[in-house]
Order: sequence, then C-alpha cells, then structure tokens
Amino acid sequence: MPKPILKIALDVPLDRLFDYLSGGLMAKIGQRVLVPFGRRSQIGIVVAMADSSEFAIEKLKPVTQVFSDELPIDAETLSLVKFSADYYQYPFGQALLSALPARLRQIAPAVSRKQYAYQLTDAGRQLDIETIPKRQLVTRRVLAALQVAETLSETLTEAALDEISSSARKAAKQLVSEGWAISLQVQASVKTLETAPALEPDLNQEQAFAVRQITQHAAAFKAWLLHGITGSGKTEVYIRLMQHVLQNKDAQVLVLVPEINLTPQLEARFRSRLPHFSLVSLHSNLSEGERLHHWQLAQSGAARIIIGTRLSIFTPMPNLKLIIIDEEHDSSYKQQDSMRYHARDVALVRAKRLNIPVVLGSATPALESWHNATATAPNINNAKTSQAEASQTNKYNLLSLNQRAVTAAQLPHIDCIDTTKVNLQHGLTPQLIAALKLRLVRKEQSLLFINRRGYSPVLLCSACHWIAPCTRCSSKLVVHLGQKKLRCHHCGHEQKIPNQCPSCGNADLHPTGHGTQRLEQTLAQLLPTARIARVDRDSTSRKDALVEILDKVHNQEIDILVGTQMLAKGHDFPNLTLVGVVDTDSALHSPDFRASERLFAQLMQVAGRAGRADKAGQVIIQTQFPEHVLFNALRTQDYVTYANSLLQEREQVQFPPYVFTALLRAEANDFALVQQFLQHAFTLARSLTDKVLVYDPVRPQMERLKGMERGHVLMQASSRPALQHLLKNLVGELRGKSIAAKVRWAVDVNPLEF
Ligand code: ADP
Ligand code: ZN
Ligand code: ZN
Repeated sequence: MPKPILKIALDVPLDRLFDYLSGGLMAKIGQRVLVPFGRRSQIGIVVAMADSSEFAIEKLKPVTQVFSDELPIDAETLSLVKFSADYYQYPFGQALLSALPARLRQIAPAVSRKQYAYQLTDAGRQLDIETIPKRQLVTRRVLAALQVAETLSETLTEAALDEISSSARKAAKQLVSEGWAISLQVQASVKTLETAPALEPDLNQEQAFAVRQITQHAAAFKAWLLHGITGSGKTEVYIRLMQHVLQNKDAQVLVLVPEINLTPQLEARFRSRLPHFSLVSLHSNLSEGERLHHWQLAQSGAARIIIGTRLSIFTPMPNLKLIIIDEEHDSSYKQQDSMRYHARDVALVRAKRLNIPVVLGSATPALESWHNATATAPNINNAKTSQAEASQTNKYNLLSLNQRAVTAAQLPHIDCIDTTKVNLQHGLTPQLIAALKLRLVRKEQSLLFINRRGYSPVLLCSACHWIAPCTRCSSKLVVHLGQKKLRCHHCGHEQKIPNQCPSCGNADLHPTGHGTQRLEQTLAQLLPTARIARVDRDSTSRKDALVEILDKVHNQEIDILVGTQMLAKGHDFPNLTLVGVVDTDSALHSPDFRASERLFAQLMQVAGRAGRADKAGQVIIQTQFPEHVLFNALRTQDYVTYANSLLQEREQVQFPPYVFTALLRAEANDFALVQQFLQHAFTLARSLTDKVLVYDPVRPQMERLKGMERGHVLMQASSRPALQHLLKNLVGELRGKSIAAKVRWAVDVNPLEF
C-alpha cells in the first residue's frame, strides 16, 4: 500500500517541502507532478512519501496530475541538489526546479520534439555549389554536407546541421522550399558515427604517466589535478581516459567546459576520436526542445558522453563513471545569482558520493586547487595549524604535463615593453606596431588582446574632466562609436552621445581608453592594408557571428584579430604568431585580491595562442610595470613559482584558501534599509558564534547596480563546519524577520567577487 502523503518540492522561495495527498494517483519519488498552490497550479517534484503530515489531513489537497510517462529523477540527483541547496543556503525546491530543463518546469508533458533529417533531391544533386553566392556561407556548407552524406548513403541529421552552424537548420529548410532537398522525419535518438576513429598520436611520457595513474585508480573516488601548459596535450589525456572508462558497458562520462563557445570544438574532437559513443551537449545555446532532449538522453543512460556548462553538473546520469572539468580555474563555473554554486566543488562532492574519479585540468589551476594538490603537512613551527587543517591538504593528486605535445611547438617569447619609456601612437608602442607590420609581410596572423575590465573607452570632457556616468550604477558609461551610443556594461542602460558636456557646456567630448572599437580604428589607420576583425560582445551578439569570424581566421582572410577574453580560450590558430597585450595595468593594482591570479591565468592563456604549430610565437605586453613579479613569472611561463608566491601572500594575510568565507549580500532602492538589515544581521551573527569572524557591514566596490543600493557583511572562519553552522542558523533566523522582507538578500558561500 503506497503511503498517502507526498512531500513535494516546489519552485517557491521557502525552504521546506509541501504536503499533498496522492489522491489515488500512483506517483513515485522523483516524479514530476502538478499541484494546486494558492490560486494557481504549479509543477513540483515528489521527493518523499509519508504516512502522516504535521498538518491536518483534511486541509491537504490532492495532486492534480502525475506525469507518469516521464522517468523520475533518481535519488542520487535529488540528494546532490539537496546537499548543494543546504551548502549554498538556498531553498531546495527552487534549486531543484531550476536544475531542470525549462520544458520540465512547464505545465505540460515533456515530449521530445520530432526530429528531421535531410537529403538531396535530383535537382539538388545537379546543383553546382559555386552558383550560390559566397556570402551565403551556411547554405553552401549545408549543401556540401548533404553531398558528402549522399556519397555515404546517409541523411543529414539536425544534430549534424547544428555542428555546421546554428542557422544551418534554417538553411536546410530553405533548401527544401527551393526543391533541392527533402526532409524526412526520423526517430529521435542519439547519433553515433559509423566512421573509424581519427588517428591517435602516441602519448608522450608525461601523458602516458597521467593516463596510467588515473586509469589504475578509475574505480574509486580520487581527485586529480592535471596541470599542463596550453598545448601540452591535456585534451588528449581526457580522450584516453574516456576511452578507458567507456569500455565498460553503459558507462557515462561528464565533461564540464566553462563556456558554450568552447563546446563545438571539443565536441567535434571527441566525436572524431570516440565516434562509437553517443554524445550530447548541454548548454544555454540550445533551444528548449534540444536541451530537454539531450537532458533526457543523459537521464536515460542513452547518451554516454555529456559535454556541458556548469548547470549540467546536476543532470541525472545513471551510470556516471568519470567527471572531467576542463579549465577548472575558470570563474564561469561559479553561478553569480540564485543558488551561487561552484560547479567544480559540486562535481567533487558528486564524484566522492559516487566513488568515481574526477579530473581537473588547467594550465593555471585555481589557487584553491593548487593548494589542495600541493600543500604538505603542517609546519610544526606554526602552532596555529591544527590536525584538522593538515588533513585538508594534499586532497588532490597532482599530475603535470610540462612539455608541449607537438615537439616542434616552442613556447612563445614574451617581451614586456615599458610604456613610460617610449612614444605611444594611439596607445600602441613602436615595438608592437613594428611586430604587427612584420606579420603582415610574412603573411602571418596577430591577436591584440584587451583586458575588458576597466578598459572600455569612456566619454571624457577635456575641460572639466567630467566622465559620463551611469545613472543607475556606480560605473561609467562605455562609448560605442558604431552605434553612436553610450552604454552601461553592468545594467544595459543606453543613451545617445551628448553634444556637449552637461557639467560645463564644453563641446569637446572625446572617448578615452582603449576599447576594442577604438583600437580597431587605430589599427586601420596605421596599417591600411591589414584585414582586421574585432571580437567582443558587440561584434558577436548575433548568433553565428563568432563562428563566422573564426572561420575567416582559419581561412586566412583575417590578418589581425582584436578582442577581449572571448579570444583567450581554446581557439587554435596555427598561423597566429604574434599576441599583443595592450593594457592590463589596472588589474595589477586592483583592490580585488583575486585580480592578479585571474590576470596571470588570462595572460598565460592568450600567450598560449601564439605559435601553436611549427611557427615560433611572440608575445608583446605593454605595461608601465615591466618588472612586476607577475610578468617575470609569465616570461618563464612559471605558474608554479607564481602560484606558490601568491599562496604565501594569502597565508600571511589569511585570505582563501587559508580561511573560508561567505558574504551576506543585500540590496534595496533605499540604502537605509540595506544598512538596517545588515546591521541587524551583523549583530545577530556575532551573537550566534565566536568561531567566525564577522566584519562590519560595508559597501562593495560597485555601490549601486541597476538602480539598487548595495551592501554586504563578510564572514570568515578557519573551520568550514563552523562557518556552515553559523550560516544555517543566521539564514534561518533572518528568513522570519520583517526587515529581511524589505531588502533583496542572499548568501554567497566561497564568493569569487566582492
Ligand atoms: P591542451 O588540451 O593541453 O591544450 P591538446 O590535447 O589540445 O592540448 O594538444 C595540443 C595539440 O597537440 C593538439 O593538436 C593535439 O592533437 C596534439 N597532441 C596531443 N598529444 C599529442 C601527442 N602525444 N603526440 C602528438 N601530438 C599530440
Ligand atoms: Zn566639462
Ligand atoms: Zn548601469
């Protein structure tokens, strides 16, 4: 006899479950149900069943509908989300529902969409691709792919179209309406390729050692930190590990990647090397239908390889046997709103619970990870270090790849040019300009990198030094010359460029700072023959725009790429031999204690873009501080020394990873409310414990954001359980307080940004 009371998680900001009667409907744990809630209906997930309720049975309502055709969410996923919700102080129901694909939050059965595949018609077979205009790039590529499919007696699936471009489906439909192709409805399934895998290189010694170590321990939890410079063959190691694990019947592998930009490349590489295993991706660029479909393939066990961004860590995978986290240091693994989880940390918990290995790969590991992999037994002279802390260290196993995998590929030569000692032309040093010219002569490519934070051009009055501010944030507006607009990069506010200074009436207002657009213009003047492309949020806002630019780079139709960190990651351009770094000094002296760690990682990554193939690369960094330790470490590509020195500093001043921190963030239209709330929370926190250092309420660097006044209280402890204990009690008490209802507040555990 099933228990009559269902405990249901709902997407409401209350940290509790809701009791309903099963009402004769058969529901399992993990199943999606529809329930009446207030005056509306809501989707919920059954998480437990009980014989009794703390409420009177007559008051309970029955569930309206059970979506019994859908697979229930398994216990492992439910408990992982529960753990995360508790750890990050977020309501479980909200955490659970937001971990699901959007379609599963809607009041409708989740049916996967019909799938189509395409093939050429007779007319289409006759068609000469050259008759299609060159600018219809996607159409041409779809046609070419259809022709290839034809020679293999195959059809072209929608998944295959998606690999061509996100507008390829549209192009395919267009071909159908022109009568050149037909579409066939096919059974939705995961694609595996029948082709033979691409050739695999022989591993070098370091790679072979890493693979051997991990595969020898593949049947149990261990955290591996795979530290290897760019191009050292980390991805090759991932592939071998996947091959090994996937030999086991039904085994699944999850690969986390920081950004959707990176998934297509990795996906293509995995598909060509592991063609017999069904692979799906999970990221926000998918349509809702695709996301649901991919998610269900993971949940059913049909998909064996899942590549996804941070949210995919919560995807049910019944046979998960290995987790790989590429670029583990990347801050996009941390969610910055709602439940502020860190996907790497959740992945570690998941791997531990499943007793499977987790591999963290990076050229510049997060200092936390480096600390976990390298810190040794406590210093006996330091009485403060306790036994408990000692057991915290050496939690990860370090594996290093110190050589580039392709032997010919040399490390780039790095020069720091002192900008105080030369005459700059529009912000560029003569050395950099000469190096760019040389590349043009040699028909090689260059990349100019701008550190986005703080280096966008602002509008400055030459007479009174007024700078156009955002009225809703404590930030300056950024000049967008193309659209003749000023825009706030924090809240999106836009306005026209004023004709005169609102402060003094002067008409001489000009952009200052080196934004990507200005740099592009400057280059066009200095190097009129160069073909220049800019990659930033503006130039790539259109879907496919980035893919098109990258294609052009590969086809040698671009000489100089100008852009922000979007370009720093992953892309492999064999003919790119020069990287120029235009302005990074603000990050050297940022008040954010993580700024130098981040800058170093970024510069290592951009430097890694230069000279990947057989051509030696050169990196030119323009700075006022060429002797800075960060640049010295960069010149020798010496992450280890630099990381150790940063860790020493952090230990001296007792910053993470030597202490554990959490922020109580609050914001409201009226700062007085924020202050009142934070003061209350501060006093409360102090009264609840003496094991946690609770700092006075302060305002963050960005005092105002999107019209909201902000403040926070920092809490810091040398023991994580003590901090967790305080947070739980503090949040519990605050939730009932009337002042807490007047502000927007949230707890950020292990915050990355202040
Ligand atoms: P990472 O992920 O560390 O940046 P990759 O795995 O992408 O490095 O390797 C960089 C390049 O070297 C790729 O083109 C890859 O195919 C090649 N490569 C990797 N391992 C080997 C090897 N053992 N022998 C030859 N080439 C290799
Ligand atoms: Zn002025
Ligand atoms: Zn703003």
